[in-house]
Amino acid sequence: MTQDIDHNHTLFERAKRVIPGGVNSPVRAFKAVGGTPRFVTRSQGAYFWDANDQRYIDYIGSWGPMILGHGHPAVVKAVQTAVLEGFSYGAPTEREVELAEEILRLVPSMDMVRLVSSGTEAAMSAIRLARGATGRSKLIKFEGCYHGHADALLVKAGSGLATFGNATSAGVPAEVVQHTLVLEYNHIGQLEEVFAAQGHEIACLMIEPICGNMNFIRASVPFMKRCRELCTQYGTLLVFDEVMTGFRVALGGAQSVYARDIPGFEPDMTVMGKVIGGGMPLAAFGAKRAVMEHLAPLGAVYQAGTLSGNPVATACGLATLREIQKPGFYDELSRKSRLLMGGLTQVAHQEGVPFCSDSEGGMFGFFMLNALPQTYADVMKSDSARFNQLFHGLLDRGVYIAPALFEAGFMSAAHTDEDIAATVAAAHEVFKLL
Ligand SMILES: *Cc1c(COP(=O)(O)O)cnc(C)c1O
Repeated sequence: MTQDIDHNHTLFERAKRVIPGGVNSPVRAFKAVGGTPRFVTRSQGAYFWDANDQRYIDYIGSWGPMILGHGHPAVVKAVQTAVLEGFSYGAPTEREVELAEEILRLVPSMDMVRLVSSGTEAAMSAIRLARGATGRSKLIKFEGCYHGHADALLVKAGSGLATFGNATSAGVPAEVVQHTLVLEYNHIGQLEEVFAAQGHEIACLMIEPICGNMNFIRASVPFMKRCRELCTQYGTLLVFDEVMTGFRVALGGAQSVYARDIPGFEPDMTVMGKVIGGGMPLAAFGAKRAVMEHLAPLGAVYQAGTLSGNPVATACGLATLREIQKPGFYDELSRKSRLLMGGLTQVAHQEGVPFCSDSEGGMFGFFMLNALPQTYADVMKSDSARFNQLFHGLLDRGVYIAPALFEAGFMSAAHTDEDIAATVAAAHEVFKLL
């Protein structure tokens, strides 16, 4: 840094006086990795700049939405046009219909969608709908999966099998999480036991199919197949939380990835966010018509939103969805994710650092371990001190990855092979120091 004054530090001090922890979402605070968060001033393509005018190659892309990179001309134009027409009406618009049609065409497991403003809201609403549609109260979630911060989902495994979970946040009464069963990811035996004992009481099983909130862990194909079979057998709705994976790992989302291995595979309900808003507050949940018709104003399950289907956000989302349908889009994104992961693996191994990685489409993850973890407990074995050194080493060299070990990384259409080569070279320097 060439300046005498660290403007990020100055801003962080100012922020801490008026915003709890100085941030509006906890992981931005760098608490896991230490140091001063970078305050972003502008962005373009694969880069953003901080308050010291330092440039970073951006591998978080707003935690997933910016699949086209920052400031894509077609998206900027669509948003500018929409803004001039109006910000919000509280009355329906054609663009909402267009976006709903587009999502349903690309994700055919759903017949109808409801648009909302955040992934949290979408997951919370999906659970209410699942409960309303089935007349059941219990739900299954998996340790390590994140579905936003609705009360019933802020829960970790209890002491024994199929006991109810414990709240992971203060302010969530035990009564509120008493219907949430927290199971181990990829553990078929436990899943079977729980269904055998209480399957007829379980409204839904919610899962991140490729879990980006444990860095990057896939639900195994046999595990997913068993989830599908048990849900069908017991009348439990299989809910795919594709807030991160939707339009990110493939045009048809993670469900299309599983359908390659499990013929005819479909979830019963899908929760989406991030990419569908292209960086604006927009999310959605959808299912077959029979389920969605339980939703107000047709049915008895209440759900609403002042800014739902916002005209500017839908314009941004629609323009983004049009770009990602161009021929070869995901092939190129996948190639670049693999190029980056391959490059990092090579230089890590060259320096004797254990390293393994995985990727699907524009989402990737790596661990400084010899083998990919399968469960949350495995992820916890990863060396966080080493990760923090890598994080800061990269940051100092102008590469911004997620400031926590438990987060996936994101490739955008704007990243070039040169950006990837520069990233690998920066990582090589850091691995030498580990
Ligand atoms: C980001 C995320 C959410 C929450 O979405 P917000 O828009 O942050 O509320 C839910 N589920 C998954 C899988 C996510 O990655």
